[in-house]
This record gives sequence, C-alpha cells and structure tokens, in this order.
Amino acid sequence: MDLAHYFDNAATTPVDPQVLEAMLPFLKEACGNAHSIHSYGTQARDAVERAREQIALLVGSEDPSEILFTSGATESNNLVLQSSMEAAISSIEHSSVREPALFAGFHELDLTDGQPAPPAGHRALISAIRVNNETGHTLNLDRLAPRCDRLHSDLTQAVGKIPVSLGSSAIGLASFSAHKLYGPKGVGALYARGGEFPEPLMRGGGQEQGFRAGTLNVPGIVGFGEAARVAMERQDDDFHHAEHLRSVVIEELSGLSDWRINEGSDQSPFILSLSFLGLEGESLVLELDRAGYAISAGAACSSTKVEPSHVLIALGLTPEWARGTVRISFGRTNTADSAAGLARTLRACVGTLLNLRL
Ligand code: PMP
Repeated sequence: MDLAHYFDNAATTPVDPQVLEAMLPFLKEACGNAHSIHSYGTQARDAVERAREQIALLVGSEDPSEILFTSGATESNNLVLQSSMEAAISSIEHSSVREPALFAGFHELDLTDGQPAPPAGHRALISAIRVNNETGHTLNLDRLAPRCDRLHSDLTQAVGKIPVSLGSSAIGLASFSAHKLYGPKGVGALYARGGEFPEPLMRGGGQEQGFRAGTLNVPGIVGFGEAARVAMERQDDDFHHAEHLRSVVIEELSGLSDWRINEGSDQSPFILSLSFLGLEGESLVLELDRAGYAISAGAACSSTKVEPSHVLIALGLTPEWARGTVRISFGRTNTADSAAGLARTLRACVGTLLNLRL
C-alpha cells in the first residue's frame, strides 16, 4: 500500500510518525490509570493534561478545562444534541448530528450559499457544521449567533486544517476528532466555552469533571495532543499543499463531459466532490481501488446506504447526479504526481464504465 495513493483523508488520516512515537510509551511501560494516585497515575495524568493544553492551543481556547475528552466526534455531537430540549440544525450535517437531531424532532435549516439569513425565531441551540465532510462546503457561522442561546459546530473537518479560534468566535460548543488530523482513532473532544458542558451521557467514576465517566484513553489522548502540536506547525503548509493537489486533479480532468464539481463559494481545499452523470459513485471507487487508489463515494460513514446523500440533495443535486458522486480528500502523504495519476486513472475509469453501459 502506497500512502501517496491514499485519497480518503476526510474518512481518516494515517497516524503521523511523531504521534506514534509519542504514544508508544503509554502503550508500554507508562501504563498508569490517569486517576490512580501513585507515580504511574501521576505520569499518565500529567500527560493527559499536557495533551489538553496542546489541543486548547490548536483551537484557540485560553482555558484547557474547556476541552473534554470523548471517544470521537460522534460522541461529542451526541452529547450536545441529546442534552438539548430544543434545537435546529443545518441541512448539511454529518449523520452524528443529524440522526440524534431528527430523533428528537428538531428541524433542519437551509444555511448554504446564497440563502438569506436563517429563518427568524430564536432557538435554544443551533448546530451548524463548519466544513462539510462530503463536499468541503463551509458555513458562515457568525450570522447564526444572534439567532440562538448557544451555537454548536461540528469542526471535525476543520480543526488542524483551517484556522480555528474558539476563544474569539461565536461558537460556544464544538466537536472534533483526533483521527482526522493524523492522530489515533477512537478519541475526540468537546469544547465548551467556560467549561459549560452538557449533561453527561455516561455516568460512573466521575472522570472529566463528572461530565464523561470512564477510564481515560491515555495513549489516544497523548497521540491527540501530539497531533495537535504537529498541526500547529504544519497547518499553513498542509493547506497550500491541499490547494495545489486539488487544482492538479481538476486540471487533469478538464475536457471530460457530463461531470461537475460540487463546491461552494467558500470551499475547503482538502475535499473535492465530483459527480459523473449516469455512473454510480461506488463503481468508480471500486475501479479506482483495483488501480491502487483509495477515494470514497459520498461519505465513508454513509456508504452502505442506498439512498443518495442528504447533503448532496440539500445542495441542489438531483438524485441522478448525487448517485454518481465521489469524494477525493487530500492529505500530507499525497504528492502532485500521485494526484495527477489519480485524475488520469479516474478519467480512464469513467470512460470504461460509460462504455460498459452501452
Ligand atoms: N463529523 C464529521 C464532519 C465527520 O467527518 C466525522 C467522521 N466521518 C464525524 C463527525 C464522526 O467522527 P468520529 O469518527 O470521530 O466519531
């Protein structure tokens, strides 16, 4: 497997070598439970608090106690949505916001490009994603703040990629996850301004100030902290690298017919959503996999669903266009050569699949 050919970085990123290095002692001899009172426990606790500081720094929080460790963005999102009595969400949310919101009977708002200000009326909570995981569309969150008591944002595709300064923003609650920024899977965070966390979903041993019971995932948290530290150093370079790779792929595809780029006026360069009329996104993904390239059809987490993605439909695609959609997502291990190779292979696969249909 050649990571230069791995273009599914919005699904998950490979663990950075420095992150792995930082984690290893905590998988071996530094085995303490962060709540034990002996030296092993102190060592683990110190490492957890150091990671909390590194993460707070990355997201622009001046008080590390505003960061709560969770098992990932899904849990963070559920914590927020399940504790709300009344809320509205944007129409392009990840399923980990959308499902608990719809289950609770909350409404969706169209907040995408070209839409007027959100419908009047004040809400206890609005949850709006900063960078959409399927297309890279970004939402302008500032205009939402006057419309709600608390603004929550799923920042999973934003943290470590675009500047985030929660201390000086309108966002009062934010969810994100380590494995999207070269950290390990199974660890994430919820930011709450002033440490005002929602009611716990998990009660037990009182960890995380009583807001999230369960033995802390020390190696994962240490890896998350190191990933945040590395992201601080690399964020600008990573951004320009993604911009370049995205333009290489688009350039190589020019001249094809019956395809479109699904993008907003304010767009994350890390994600490129393409639709090919008359094709199935999954078939393209499998063809490319045979050629050694990893991309995804729509969102990885919803790829087992047959119906077209709610995000693409909310963004105005017809079901036919939505079905022919693939997502290419860029990361540190890609190169301009591998991006050009991906685009040439994609072009060939589109031709092959269209011919098979005839
Ligand atoms: N929100 C967004 C925008 C995501 O892209 C993802 C991961 N696909 C999640 C939430 C869920 O994150 P996790 O895997 O950490 O639960």
